[in-house]
Amino acid sequence: MKFDMSVKENLLQIKSEIPPHVTLVAVSKTWPVDKLMEAYDAGQRIFGENKVQEMCDKQPMMPADTEWHMIGHLQSNKVKYMASFVKMIHGIDSLKLLIEVDKQAKKHSRAIDCLLQAHIAQEESKFGMNEEELDALLHSTEFAELKNVKIKGLMGMATFTDDQEQIKKEFTYLKTLFDKHRNTNPDFTFLSMGMSGDYQLAIACGSNMVRIGSSIFGSR
Ligand SMILES: *Cc1c(COP(=O)(O)O)cnc(C)c1O
Repeated sequence: MKFDMSVKENLLQIKSEIPPHVTLVAVSKTWPVDKLMEAYDAGQRIFGENKVQEMCDKQPMMPADTEWHMIGHLQSNKVKYMASFVKMIHGIDSLKLLIEVDKQAKKHSRAIDCLLQAHIAQEESKFGMNEEELDALLHSTEFAELKNVKIKGLMGMATFTDDQEQIKKEFTYLKTLFDKHRNTNPDFTFLSMGMSGDYQLAIACGSNMVRIGSSIFGSR
């Protein structure tokens, strides 16, 4: 990305590079609403934020057809603030959190789309569930009873490294987890993987939802 390119130019450039079956989440964290509006005016409707407070501050200032995705690590006690409008939560990493999302969505008589976050990176610091934990959640009776959440797929973040082979290995692994659950779960639709630095590789490995921030809005 060149520093003198506008949000609109960056966005259209990325859109021309990604295939039509891939959904683009414009990650607008830290950027003011006028920047988001530049993307909105260029046709972008899906925006990703990683802090509940920031998303709740921006939401009333954006047009009503803006689709809000929470992509960051989420604490249970914050779910209530965004339950009336959030379209999708990418970072579900426990049954406890999912039960809270269900409870808050129910208060607004709606269903919230969720992605389960899988831990695929080598770093301990990245959030998410391992294969056994994903299996356990999806096969639990507690999950089966939740009516106000829909598990639409998986999300994951690769190790922060320049080693393309390592990243490819992790994305490929996440794709196999996605395919495994898609076979038995009719709601499974989205595999959210890929950011500014690795979205092309992620798409090549089977991603159909990319979360791109700095390549659209500039470096934070
Ligand atoms: C910030 C963020 C992104 C976007 O990162 P860029 O490198 O700016 O594209 C994607 N996913 C998550 C979870 C993030 O927190």
